[in-house]
Amino acid sequence: MKKVIEMVKKWKSWNCHDCGVKEGEIHKEGCDMERCPRCGGQLISCGCYETYNKLPYRIPYILIPVKCGLCGEQWPEPFKVPDEEWRKYVIPQLQRETLCRDCYEEMKKLFPNGWRTK
Ligand SMILES: [Zn+2]
Ligand SMILES: [Zn+2]
Ligand SMILES: [Zn+2]
Repeated sequence: MKKVIEMVKKWKSWNCHDCGVKEGEIHKEGCDMERCPRCGGQLISCGCYETYNKLPYRIPYILIPVKCGLCGEQWPEPFKVPDEEWRKYVIPQLQRETLCRDCYEEMKKLFPNGWRTK
């Protein structure tokens, strides 16, 4: 039960980390980074369209940086926190976000016994 804050630094190279296209280009078929035009999810797994030629249009690749949900730092260093600890110190609105280490430590200082009052 580990909360893994995804390692995304490799995306710093501007090309798509999966299929390697440049920004502004259409992903290669089967790329795990392509978004579905209907649901906005991951195209290869959402199941909205059976084949690529059924798509009304395809969404070109643009690098969107991962940011700390609190201070906005781009590409925060990844770190691991046990799930339990994450829920204890990180308030619900931020639990699904990525936090940088500093902000996480800040949460721990703010709520030494966790944010829940009961
Ligand atoms: Zn791609
Ligand atoms: Zn979809
Ligand atoms: Zn931060």
